[in-house]
Amino acid sequence: MGLKRVYHSNASDPTIIADSWWEASANLMRHAPAPLENDHVCDVAIIGGGFTGLSAAKTLAEAGVTTCVAEAGHFGWGASGRNGGFCANTSTKKSLSDIVKQYGLDEMRKVIKVQEEAIEQVRDFCTLAGITEDTPDNNAELAVAHTPYQLKQLRIESDEINRLLGLNTTVIDKQELNAFGAKSPAFYGGMILPWGFGLHPLNYLHALADATHEAEATLSPQTEIQSITHENGRYVLSAQNVKINAKKIIVATNGYTSETVPNWCKGRILPAVSSILVTRPITASEQAAQGWTTHHMTYDTRTLLHYFRLLPNGRMMFGGRGATSGDLAKQRAFFPELRRQFDEIFPKWANIETDYQWSGFIGLNRKKALFIGPIDSDQTAWASLAYHGSGVAMATWGGKTLAELILGRKTLDQLPRLYTDQTHKFPFDFMRPQYLKLAYAYYRQTDKR
Ligand SMILES: Cc1cc2nc3c(=O)[nH]c(=O)nc-3n(C[C@H](O)[C@H](O)[C@H](O)COP(=O)(O)OP(=O)(O)OC[C@H]3O[C@@H](n4cnc5c(N)ncnc54)[C@H](O)[C@@H]3O)c2cc1C
Repeated sequence: MGLKRVYHSNASDPTIIADSWWEASANLMRHAPAPLENDHVCDVAIIGGGFTGLSAAKTLAEAGVTTCVAEAGHFGWGASGRNGGFCANTSTKKSLSDIVKQYGLDEMRKVIKVQEEAIEQVRDFCTLAGITEDTPDNNAELAVAHTPYQLKQLRIESDEINRLLGLNTTVIDKQELNAFGAKSPAFYGGMILPWGFGLHPLNYLHALADATHEAEATLSPQTEIQSITHENGRYVLSAQNVKINAKKIIVATNGYTSETVPNWCKGRILPAVSSILVTRPITASEQAAQGWTTHHMTYDTRTLLHYFRLLPNGRMMFGGRGATSGDLAKQRAFFPELRRQFDEIFPKWANIETDYQWSGFIGLNRKKALFIGPIDSDQTAWASLAYHGSGVAMATWGGKTLAELILGRKTLDQLPRLYTDQTHKFPFDFMRPQYLKLAYAYYRQTDKR
């Protein structure tokens, strides 16, 4: 029996594997885990085997806590294994000034500090694991303005970041952008943000799973938790063939959160589709013909944004929002439109074939920022989710921080209130897909500015 979900269940079917470049090119795990065959007892059971779940399990297991991660598909089946590999900040749709207005300057600085720490945490891990991407310029993000109005907005944003955070972002005009190796008729200038780096997400996920296994956590793939009950002060998580009995649980399912596992989740997460295409390798002369030679992680200023970067082997990875149906067939029907948008931005590459295309769910919520914290009154059930499309760094941070909260190494009041504030249900939560459709129709208009 399938779990109750916001969209058509085929998009959450763990037997359908994304046709992604990452799946085609990832390093194998050193310790390929096998599904549990017998019922299992542990201190902490984690639902979801992406960055959040593994990062929590690694930290708990290293502290000697017996931990089991149940993943419905293979480890990295969800967004963690199929994202754009931008290890960058955000995890909120609120601007810096919105955060200052709501929480004050110190809280906003706390948010940024956490995001910087999160990026460095992933960078340190990848360096140690020997899986960093060897490309030039892999140390900053480039935001490109898709209209002259947006270039003005970037200047305002850059001043704000520099003033409030003491950072040194630079805004460049169209000519400078061309000289930067980021030439496109679609862009009018850009802002260089001095943070983050690109990575191969599935290599990172596999290395994290290996490290979690080595810390002696139990990893159980192909183990979809169908229900959770509370018996004699403990949780019983039931999968098709096994039960996991645990003192505490962590929900680490983000955009793949069901409505019932556990019941707290109902109505709180709005999954949204993000789609990616990857071209065949683009030769140096083809790159020069377009004028796009930079490997910087790049995104444009649309609300329904595009994000893209040249991968180490010259393939172009290009992602975007737009599909508003969870049904897999309808998600796939959006691929030609994504390719049309690619051709508009890179007209000289119109004849360059797409080799891979896939999509996945990001997790949004009502408060427009990630949530981390307890989801019951006695603090035996915890969650970290709703990364708003930016979870490479922040889901890693979320998982590790949940573990530190459970271990008593951190307290909730040390974390940004933006993140620990409750994530409420959407009003008339059955309307979530319609809210998304309406919002996208609105953004398509405002993105013309
Ligand atoms: C196409 C795309 C591009 C993206 N690009 C970027 C990017 O460039 N940079 C960035 O920072 N972020 C990006 N993101 C977002 C980022 O990938 C996510 O925020 C992050 O991976 C979330 O990690 P997670 O571990 O919380 O969830 P996920 O990796 O989604 O893992 C959740 C897991 O839970 C499992 N699950 C669900 N229900 C159950 C159950 N009942 N029992 C057992 N298992 C269950 C699912 O199978 C899934 O594997 C992108 C996302 C997508 C989809």
